[in-house]
Amino acid sequence: MKTKKFPLHWKIMIGMLLGILFGIVMTQLSWGGQFTKFYIKPLGTIFINSLKLIAIPLILASLIKGISDLKNISKLSKMGGRTVITYLLTTLTAVLIGMTLVNIIKPGSSVTEKTRNDLMVAYQDNANEKMLIAEEQKGQGPLQFIVDIVPSNIFDAATDNKNMLQVIFFAIFIGVALIYIPKEKAKPVKDFFDSFNHVILKMIDFIMLAAPFGVFGLLAAIVVEAPNIDLFKALGMYSFTLVIGLAIMIGIYIMLVRIFTKRKASFFLKGISPAQLLAFSTSSSAATLPVTMDRVENKLGVDKEVSSFVLPIGATINMDGTSLYQAVAAIFIAQTFGMDLSLSTQLGIVLTATLASIGAAAVPSAGIVLLVGVLAQAGIPEAGLALIFAVDRPLDMCRTVVNVTGDATVSMIVAKSVKKLKKVKE
Ligand code: ASP
Repeated sequence: MKTKKFPLHWKIMIGMLLGILFGIVMTQLSWGGQFTKFYIKPLGTIFINSLKLIAIPLILASLIKGISDLKNISKLSKMGGRTVITYLLTTLTAVLIGMTLVNIIKPGSSVTEKTRNDLMVAYQDNANEKMLIAEEQKGQGPLQFIVDIVPSNIFDAATDNKNMLQVIFFAIFIGVALIYIPKEKAKPVKDFFDSFNHVILKMIDFIMLAAPFGVFGLLAAIVVEAPNIDLFKALGMYSFTLVIGLAIMIGIYIMLVRIFTKRKASFFLKGISPAQLLAFSTSSSAATLPVTMDRVENKLGVDKEVSSFVLPIGATINMDGTSLYQAVAAIFIAQTFGMDLSLSTQLGIVLTATLASIGAAAVPSAGIVLLVGVLAQAGIPEAGLALIFAVDRPLDMCRTVVNVTGDATVSMIVAKSVKKLKKVKE
């Protein structure tokens, strides 16, 4: 008899809810915080680490296999061009939506001077820490990001998930070289990576068995470590503006999927939801990548040839949620300081927010570090970072969901455009 399996997204959702409830109960107990930190949080940390562990080998195996399967290089450049243009367009749309909303809602005007000063004092140290990191990244020429894509040592590159773009470069390079050598010479290497890829996919299946427990640990720890609820209230309008913008982006993705691939919203959301839930729980597109790839290929019907190329690149350069956040946060901070930004300054923010989201690493809190540059460029006090710190983690969770959903959307659109979108049962 065939038994109907309980869907993964429900299991994850239940894990998240129980984690939140558990966290709330623990905050009421004097020993609850310590207990959660020492005995529950490790569940989440182990889960996140195992996902990150898989990310680099997965990129290597699937990208080398995917690219080398292409008949010729022209297909790669066609796919590459479409991917980059679609990514840029969605990112720009996100920034513009953020800009429009923050200018209409004006969340900054709801913050009193007292709240502003309180927040500045409370989060000065955290803001300084992020500014210091940003400072280290400054002083480099505008082409530095291209220089950074090419690693000088692949083992070095593979030791840090922040260098994912370097690993992608290396994998594409090997894949292209494999296309250019005789078939019989390429076969052993291709077969190896093909088999390696299967092993990694099985490892992802195993890790996902632990997902409900992992997200339980992650969410319980986030609730226990959350700052005072009053600060959330003070930043309510700012958070509201951002969340509305992010929700609009999800609506736009659903529309794009419908228009370009004719797939229904329910089909798309059911397919991608486990990845969205993990993005929310881990705040990291890189950690979510293995699951995003699995879902996009097996549930949304995107051919491996496309997903193995579009998704790793998307995880590192396409961050629509982050770019929308940069725009909203920068203008919100300016508003709380009573600054009136000219149109040209706002256009400058569009540009820097787009670039910052491309440059941001797919890890938690990457967005807030890059925000320093956006603020500096627009002449907004960088210390204003302290204002949004209290709510940054939950908002990071939300923007990561958008980042991952955007990547999945573009992979479907690109797949359709190169006739590599398979029919999957709805
Ligand atoms: N956490 C985000 C991601 O990994 C990046 C950010 O906005 O901080 O996609």
